[in-house]
Amino acid sequence: MVTRRKLLKSLSTLPVVGGLMGTGLISAQGLSETISPYAGRNFFKELGIRTFINAAGTYTSMTGSLMHKEVTEAISFGATEFVDLDDLHDKVGERIAELLECEYATVSSGAFGAITLGLAGVISGMDTKKVEQLPDTTGLKNEVILQEGHNIAYTHALKNVGAKIVTVKTRKELENAINKKTAMMWFLNANTDNAEIKHEEFIAIGKKHNIPTFIDCAADVPPKENLFKFTKMGFDLVAFSGGKGLRGPQSSGLLLGKKELIKAARLHTPPRGSNIGRGMKVNKEEVLGLLVALELYLKKNHDAEWKLWENQIKLISDSALSVEGVETVIHVPKYANHVPSLIIKWNQDMVKITPEEVRKKLAEGHPSISTVGNKNEVGITTWMMAPGQERIVAKRVNEILANA
Ligand SMILES: *Cc1c(COP(=O)(O)O)cnc(C)c1O
Repeated sequence: MVTRRKLLKSLSTLPVVGGLMGTGLISAQGLSETISPYAGRNFFKELGIRTFINAAGTYTSMTGSLMHKEVTEAISFGATEFVDLDDLHDKVGERIAELLECEYATVSSGAFGAITLGLAGVISGMDTKKVEQLPDTTGLKNEVILQEGHNIAYTHALKNVGAKIVTVKTRKELENAINKKTAMMWFLNANTDNAEIKHEEFIAIGKKHNIPTFIDCAADVPPKENLFKFTKMGFDLVAFSGGKGLRGPQSSGLLLGKKELIKAARLHTPPRGSNIGRGMKVNKEEVLGLLVALELYLKKNHDAEWKLWENQIKLISDSALSVEGVETVIHVPKYANHVPSLIIKWNQDMVKITPEEVRKKLAEGHPSISTVGNKNEVGITTWMMAPGQERIVAKRVNEILANA
């Protein structure tokens, strides 16, 4: 018989509990109910997956961003109870609308999901027959007008609804393109400078012709002000990614704007099933996770965070510059990924290594470091790093360049 005394005795001969985690010893002692066998288990290691320092940014392929503890706590909390999915979406939508001072809001499956659902709602309105008809747009308004410079891969989110993309270059072309099949006008904030018509004029044209306007702001946080700016400016619908600058769940997003349009968009989402959005479900855990991520984001000291990023970038830049022949540029993209960013280039006659080789060495070193870049330069941001990691990056960059 195993008495409490014997068990304690046998445990005392084992290494500290932390050292047992992940070895299976804990559950072998029958303590799995008091100490989770999952605590301390390194899933990535088990799976043979290397983690890395993210010196690149909020890239989808790199899993976006890291969630704060408060966010994962909200996710864990969500997993403990049943609630009505629609009720949760209603209440969280209202709370987000209040926080962001807009008419209405809903949590979507990413910015991409928000674009698809937003357009679907615009086309169907509250007519459930039309909801069920999509993506067949026969007899429905199905043209979306956007500027040629805004026509990126993500416009597939619009095509998924069954819509036809109509691209224009000038105001005159835009006004000529509007006809009785026009459902919506779509604007890509990231590419504002690649096209002639800017925000206010775009909205004014939409209002003049009574066409709803949508702006994709997926990667446009920071600055925080953008969360408020575009609904107030007059866009009918606005989309943000939840898993980029907001640091919510990667598969979450925000659709903000006109209540009647977002209500209609919701008709295309679970628990309803006869629609194009059934596969864009957002579970209760992620709905709560995004809400908390947003609350944290709104409260955080953005000036202090910006200063930290600037200092981190300067440290890495100085470290690279200490190698003769190296040049750096520190810049802040005007639209999208609006954070202090570093470009490192060098004279390859003096520093005999290509940017691709440098990036490969960074990725293959210990710890692994992911960067962006091209044939001519290496690109680095620090906003997705844990504080302190900038020192490791600075050292590795210097080592690789100095030894080339
Ligand atoms: C990231 C991104 C998207 C997709 O956002 P998800 O939240 O990953 O669905 C759409 N548009 C732009 C401009 C983006 O940068």
